[in-house]
Amino acid sequence: MHEWSLAEALVKTVINETKNLEFKKISEIKIAIGRLQNIDKKIIKYAIKELSKKTPLENAKIILNEIEASFKCRNCNFKWRLRDVKIKNREEIHFFPELVHAFSKCPNCGSSDFEILSGRKIWIENIKILK
Ligand SMILES: [Zn+2]
Repeated sequence: MHEWSLAEALVKTVINETKNLEFKKISEIKIAIGRLQNIDKKIIKYAIKELSKKTPLENAKIILNEIEASFKCRNCNFKWRLRDVKIKNREEIHFFPELVHAFSKCPNCGSSDFEILSGRKIWIENIKILK
């Protein structure tokens, strides 16, 4: 379950980023999660809530923003998104992102030599504080 270690890193980052600011509390954080990340959103939300207890982040609203996966063909430079392609086993891609190459190819030229432009990372998009 890497949700807990990710949640821990996120909570630490938020606290670090805000430690020199003057504020009463953190009211909201927005986290971007790439669709190819193998993350259970319920678990990570729960983990963040648990790890936020007795920190300035306690009771903050947690918004998870799912980022669509997008790709670029190295052969013809065509760009496309995961939702643009019909893939038999979409769920398998969600759980095993490394299989994405086996299940997808460039819709333009059919090449399987492509790079993943987005959908892999997780980051903090926004932190709202109450002064
Ligand atoms: Zn192509």
